[in-house]
Amino acid sequence: MSAILTVAVDGAHPYTISIGADLLDDGALLAATVRGRHALIVSDRNVAPLYADRVQAALQAARPELAIARLIIPPGEHEKTLQRFGQALDALAELGATRDAAVIALGGGVIGDLAGFAGACWMRGIDVVQIPTTLLAMVDSSVGGKTAVDLPAGKNLVGAFHPPRAVIADTSVLHTLPDRELRSGLAEVVKYGVTAVSLDPADAGFLDWLEAHAEALLARDPAITAEAIARCCAFKAAVVGRDLLEHGDRALLNFGHTFGHAIEVEQGYAGTHGGGLNHGEAVAVGMILAMRLSAALGLAPASAGDRLQRLLQRLELPTSIPEGLTPDALLTRMHLDKKADASGIRFILADGAGRARVVPGVEEATVLAV
Ligand code: ADP
Ligand code: ZN
Repeated sequence: MSAILTVAVDGAHPYTISIGADLLDDGALLAATVRGRHALIVSDRNVAPLYADRVQAALQAARPELAIARLIIPPGEHEKTLQRFGQALDALAELGATRDAAVIALGGGVIGDLAGFAGACWMRGIDVVQIPTTLLAMVDSSVGGKTAVDLPAGKNLVGAFHPPRAVIADTSVLHTLPDRELRSGLAEVVKYGVTAVSLDPADAGFLDWLEAHAEALLARDPAITAEAIARCCAFKAAVVGRDLLEHGDRALLNFGHTFGHAIEVEQGYAGTHGGGLNHGEAVAVGMILAMRLSAALGLAPASAGDRLQRLLQRLELPTSIPEGLTPDALLTRMHLDKKADASGIRFILADGAGRARVVPGVEEATVLAV
């Protein structure tokens, strides 16, 4: 299955999200996203050896006059720094990039955020083409225009809203994605299922669909995976189109993330290689806690938590707080995280049937009980 969606964001140029197999080799598609004479491909050392030559060759064949440079950085969240951001700007300077140049982000969320932020800042903003190569980036971070780098003081503390000029999701690149990264992306896919009705009432049955196709998704069935990506992108496009700056229901996309973020920070972003949970895994646990909290507050039936837990378990995702982390520590973390005001903490809660909403002032005792 291939699909082309258009994201129309108020006050910004609409852009298209193309989803399908082997789009990396589609020179015409790539060339249509680059207006000027300069393009910088930003990628990491895992992704570049697999895919950068193909992108560059297809683009160059379609646009022989285009000057193309590359910046390849080591993989990992700890590379999403101001220093790497500076390197991207230096690479643009060296290329002689003008106002109509393009930055092409070829990689997962780390590369998308970093390259996107460089594109947002070079000459006050040039075109950014997102070519996400992880499932997580395809369904979430590449769409919506959030860009950022981390500081020692915390994640994503410096950034900008800078919608991409185009998103090109080549589903074939998922074949080389490590299993654990795939499952991390599936956690974000489930997030859309839990919030589907609120995001787009026309596609309310996404959670049921996920339950019907969990094993196929885990087995990377190409057609089912492409359909999941297209539906998630449509959800995200709809919500971003009406709320780019997250003043309203874009916040629903943070379902599971208040708890999840607290878990990630408490374990020091140990992630896949540090023996901790990665982002999607932390979100999976966070979604279970958020659903149990919703039930505790009478917003969802108790069965909703069990249903979600079964789905996440079938997707081989964790569903309980990792050993060594205490509820008290997580609660303290959520406080530091500015999610709290005097009356309690702000959560995204759900009814278990696809509806979600922001609930401020949840009492600490209720959170601890969960
Ligand atoms: P996320 O999208 O989860 O934020 P990252 O940008 O950190 O992720 O990417 C996760 C890891 O997967 C990194 O080590 C990255 O180099 C690697 N990676 C990304 N895409 C692919 C792919 N298609 N094939 C193999 N490895 C990939
Ligand atoms: Zn997330």
